[in-house]
Amino acid sequence: MAVAAYLNSMKEQTDILVSGGGVAGLVAAIAFGNAGFDVICVDPTPPVTERDAEGSDLRTTAFLQPARDFLDLIGLWSSFDSYATPLTTMRIVDASSDDQITRDFVSSDISDRPFGWNLPNWLLRRQMLAHLGRLPNVQFRAGVATTSVFTRQSEARVKLSDGTTVLARLVIAADGRGSPMREAAGIDVKTTRFGQKALSFAVTHDVPHDTVSTEVHRSGGPFTLVPLPDHDGKPCSAVVWMEDGAEVTRLLALDPKEFEAEATDRSAHVAGQLRLATRRTAWPIISQIADRMSAERIALIAETAHVVPPIGAQGLNMSLGDIKVLLSLAQVKPDTLGDAEMLDAYHRKRMSPTKLRVSGITWLNRASQADQPMAQAARAMGLRALHGSGTVRKSLMKLGLGASG
Ligand SMILES: Cc1cc2nc3c(=O)[nH]c(=O)nc-3n(C[C@H](O)[C@H](O)[C@H](O)COP(=O)(O)OP(=O)(O)OC[C@H]3O[C@@H](n4cnc5c(N)ncnc54)[C@H](O)[C@@H]3O)c2cc1C
Repeated sequence: MAVAAYLNSMKEQTDILVSGGGVAGLVAAIAFGNAGFDVICVDPTPPVTERDAEGSDLRTTAFLQPARDFLDLIGLWSSFDSYATPLTTMRIVDASSDDQITRDFVSSDISDRPFGWNLPNWLLRRQMLAHLGRLPNVQFRAGVATTSVFTRQSEARVKLSDGTTVLARLVIAADGRGSPMREAAGIDVKTTRFGQKALSFAVTHDVPHDTVSTEVHRSGGPFTLVPLPDHDGKPCSAVVWMEDGAEVTRLLALDPKEFEAEATDRSAHVAGQLRLATRRTAWPIISQIADRMSAERIALIAETAHVVPPIGAQGLNMSLGDIKVLLSLAQVKPDTLGDAEMLDAYHRKRMSPTKLRVSGITWLNRASQADQPMAQAARAMGLRALHGSGTVRKSLMKLGLGASG
């Protein structure tokens, strides 16, 4: 009797269990909590919420217009607003030949708002944890992992690493590119490897960024500077520098002064001398797509469903698109949350746009890796042609913004 009572006390019921408290999982927990659902979100890795702390995520996220609108809708944007740096121009520089080409894509051509707003990922986590604290129906449990899932038509039973079993109407799998929930659901993935890594760090520089995000192409992948607020009184930008894996290993081993010199050279001096403002972190680059976006009582979102190289600020913006669609389906018929009809509709709505975007970005990444003169010439010619036609230029900009739609 005492044993049965003990086992029952380890069982909990909730509307939604979010597996994974990365940026996407935390947004999902807030979105559904804000809509009135009971949510438990678990993650074995406690979030790091200070820039200079060990393990902090120094990547930044450029939230594009649709993403900002969604964050507004779920009441979260006000927690980010005062830290966001607007991005009003996307500058593309092809520096693969002496005849350097620079082309600007200006947001005022298509909109009266900036393209996007840039925020550091460590700061997003800090702001979201504070926001979660104000939602009594959302629990975030750091240091706890999902270990297994068993589903039936009416619910999912998820075992947690602290011994608890959670009965949920819907499991949102946001536990990353190697997702244990996706694996437990038997959903396969297709992965493309590029042999590339991305270095992510922040720099100060002499030339003000004037809210221009600059992508410099040569070979190995783009070198992108994305505006941040001033640091120590100097203009500051986040950098994503993509290169072949061996080259990234070499760059990481350089002392800071040598590294700064190489980074400044690779940036084609567009912002003047670059100086490190943070440590350097490296991220493996792949494209990946899951075969399905859902299984019985389980919805895949974010990197659990799709991973793309960091080009054009698409990754997390696509993830917000997943959450937006899932939330709108849940709100139409809250009583049927997580049933087969809802999850099939989610799969149908998200699979095609996700496939299209993953293959488009995979192609763009291959083009930016090009190191043969012929391929580089074709890339430069493409940039001239795409920018030269006002209609094509505007369509491309609108296409880029569609990431979270
Ligand atoms: C260099 C770089 C720059 C980028 N820039 C941009 C950008 O400007 N704009 C943009 O939109 N996107 C960008 N992206 C993409 C974006 O950073 C990612 O899409 C996003 O961070 C992934 O978030 P996620 O929550 O899906 O996954 P993750 O951050 O991987 O989170 C998954 C979480 O699941 C947890 N987990 C693992 N196992 C379990 C388990 N068993 N139980 C519970 N939890 C578990 C992990 O601990 C982790 O916290 C960039 C990516 C890179 C590499």
